[in-house]
Amino acid sequence: MNTFKLQIGTPDGLLFSGDVERVVCRSITGDLAILAGHANFCTALGMGEAHVVLPDGTRRNAACIGGMLSVMNGECHLLATTWEWQEDIDRARAEEAKARAEAKLNETGVSEKEYQIFRAKLQRALVRLGVH
Ligand code: ATP
Repeated sequence: MNTFKLQIGTPDGLLFSGDVERVVCRSITGDLAILAGHANFCTALGMGEAHVVLPDGTRRNAACIGGMLSVMNGECHLLATTWEWQEDIDRARAEEAKARAEAKLNETGVSEKEYQIFRAKLQRALVRLGVH
């Protein structure tokens, strides 16, 4: 299968640089897969499960939470707000974050701002638990 160059970075630095067969992630308009030969392209990323398939067929799963993906002249750059490889996800932490967010969202008198913050926290926790 044809491969292409992919770089995955976050504000903390470069997490991946190499050839891949495919990268799959969630954009703000839905799930997308980039394969070799993709046209130049740019999109904002949403929150969701993601994966890359390496040239030997190995699949690496990750949680991808926001950012931007571009394809330019056959190379793909994915700059994520947060990208966590499956093996780096702390399941207990995500379960605690989920429980905290659910408890907060069930409280009465939560402000609109708090509601949005904890709804986003719940979504992040669910993505992490889905990947783990
Ligand atoms: P928490 O309440 O547990 O901090 P959160 O969703 O508010 O969860 P974020 O603000 O998305 O956390 O992330 C802060 C930092 O902590 C990021 O670097 C992120 O990669 C890391 N992080 C958060 N939760 C986990 C997790 N369950 N496993 C591994 N890293 C995590």
